[in-house]
Amino acid sequence: MLDLKKDFPIFKENPGLCFLDSGASAQKPSYVIDFVADFYRTTYANIHRGVYKQSWETTVLYDRAREKTAEFLGVEDVDSVIFTKNTTESINLVAYSFGETLTEGDEIIVSIMEHHANLVPWQMLAQRKKLKLKIAYVNKETLTLPIENITKLITDKTKLIALSMCSNVLGTISPFVEICKIANEKGIRVLLDGAQYMPHHKINFKELGINPDFVVFSGHKLCSFDGVGVLYGKREVLDKMQPFLTGGDMIESVSIEKTEFAPLPNKFEAGTPPIGAVISLLKAIEYLESVGLDKIEQHETMLAREAIKRLKEIEGVRVFAPENIKNGIVSFTIDGIHPHDIATILAEEKVCIRAGMHCAEPLITYLGQDSFARATFYLYNDLDDVEKLIKAVKRCKEVFKL
Ligand code: PMP
Repeated sequence: MLDLKKDFPIFKENPGLCFLDSGASAQKPSYVIDFVADFYRTTYANIHRGVYKQSWETTVLYDRAREKTAEFLGVEDVDSVIFTKNTTESINLVAYSFGETLTEGDEIIVSIMEHHANLVPWQMLAQRKKLKLKIAYVNKETLTLPIENITKLITDKTKLIALSMCSNVLGTISPFVEICKIANEKGIRVLLDGAQYMPHHKINFKELGINPDFVVFSGHKLCSFDGVGVLYGKREVLDKMQPFLTGGDMIESVSIEKTEFAPLPNKFEAGTPPIGAVISLLKAIEYLESVGLDKIEQHETMLAREAIKRLKEIEGVRVFAPENIKNGIVSFTIDGIHPHDIATILAEEKVCIRAGMHCAEPLITYLGQDSFARATFYLYNDLDDVEKLIKAVKRCKEVFKL
């Protein structure tokens, strides 16, 4: 069992805090905060432009973050790792730049459990370029995404499958490994939204024998500062794409008549990047690896399963999770109490959860609901947090006299 609250200053500053909202954004350990604060005090300068010590040292750290991120993903081509602002920007970049290579009648497959970040950019692209957007549905009973529900949508016109590795609402893990293999064979591109998967599981794409065309995730959900996201793309695909943003740092040469773009990764990193946030990502990955991602998965799974078991024992509580969940995501409702009221009453007990549509309105509607309460467990949570959640949920029922 992990016992890591002491590594995270937020818990010292807020005694009794029961933070169950890491699915939205994770807390930051001293290991990350102190390093970055020190970096700003002693070293900060812009990257790539200066020959002086501070600029040079900042550039070394920035480049090290890219190498570490490539290692974390288990990909060899370091320069195919692009830093963006977040998952949303990474997907928009692909929808804009890769989207330009698609033509009328081409088809894109997404699933019903996508976060809006992996739906709206494709919807807009489909409208702009007259493409067909096809939806793979989750099984309403098991809350899983059977592979046939995706493969049956594939035709000769399918150009891209954009798939969440893990649903931010249900905790359902999609069959992304098999989909990558099938798509690879058929020459279909795959984008994996790893926002809810990468922070919680050890994964090495090379060892798995798959090479997705795009993988995206956000640093802030894996204990880095907010403001940095990742886009890994296959070099052969990225090379054919036009830049998303243009300006400084992404050029080879510029004249009044024309511009030559820089090679990867600069081609997709126009302007001054979020330097401190990128460096915080390096330290966050180091921290998670020092704990062990396999241990993190085991720990949060244990907490979520305990929470699910205890929640189901309470009359009127419905949990929306597949069997044998393998992460810390627990969505639930209480008959007769709106999830926003649940979240408000829990907040009074310092139990921080989230309520609403979770940026997945089509999924929630498909499941016949209008909102869920969602508790998410991460490496710093413990059984005491489960206890507090259960106690607070019981209090909700008392407040509503149910
Ligand atoms: N995809 C999934 C599955 C998510 O959970 C989230 C964040 N809730 C996003 C994409 C978007 O991430 P960000 O807000 O960091 O861009």
